[in-house]
Amino acid sequence: MREARHARSAIAMAVPGPGRDTGGVHTARLILALPDRPTAEADHALPRLLGALHQNGQVLDSAPPVVADEQALHAYLSLPAADALDPEHHGPYVRAALAELAAAGHGAPRVRLLGADPHGEPECGCETPSAYLLYTTFVDRDSPLRCADCSGTVPLYRIPAGPGDLIRSRVLDWQQQYRACDRLWIESGALEAAALHELVAAGSDLSASGRELCAALAAAPHLGRPVYYYLHRPGGEEPAAPDACPSCGRPWRLDLPWGVCGHRCDGCGLAAA
Ligand SMILES: [Zn+2]
Ligand SMILES: [Zn+2]
Repeated sequence: MREARHARSAIAMAVPGPGRDTGGVHTARLILALPDRPTAEADHALPRLLGALHQNGQVLDSAPPVVADEQALHAYLSLPAADALDPEHHGPYVRAALAELAAAGHGAPRVRLLGADPHGEPECGCETPSAYLLYTTFVDRDSPLRCADCSGTVPLYRIPAGPGDLIRSRVLDWQQQYRACDRLWIESGALEAAALHELVAAGSDLSASGRELCAALAAAPHLGRPVYYYLHRPGGEEPAAPDACPSCGRPWRLDLPWGVCGHRCDGCGLAAA
């Protein structure tokens, strides 16, 4: 991992990716030399590192594909941004997993950045976003934290968090719950109505946990900026009172679109298309 920065710049210079690179999702190969003698600790060391990187928001998939040859393990990782594996983003759990790798006899991991996903969402490049949005769907692989100004994704490892602070894991937990409800709404049939309620009702269990999370993200020591909860509004079904915030009942339709949103209630921290 210490070599990540050098390996990435070497690749970037040698093999410039095709098309535009607006940041966002990249694929990388992490190469881990096998120890001289196999042990149970060595077997578990890579899954532990990958789990820690995922929980810290540095790797998008919780169980990325891994292949082995005689010398090394090769993990193919989706990263939320090109700099995701820079050591400066490692939290205490990733550093502990790296120490376990070394203790189990593995060589230091090396990283090769393979390129940007040409279909991925662009990454937020704003210096100081005025606000954020918590938004995902069951097909979204990216970070569910979006910049309200440019609509770009914000990798979770960029959320300020002190040692032992599990805010990034909490965002991942909420994202899993949201994806599960969204998938049930689209694909289940039998559970469609209950799942849709979770997505559209401002007071559903899913919305309540998402709004609580937004408040925690907005507060110090995290983002220090408003974080709006994006409330799903199904197309073609106008709610009974479209101009009223579904939480407080005050007018929330915007004269001008705000990023992807046409509705917003500042008092309730809600936004919608
Ligand atoms: Zn932005
Ligand atoms: Zn409201």
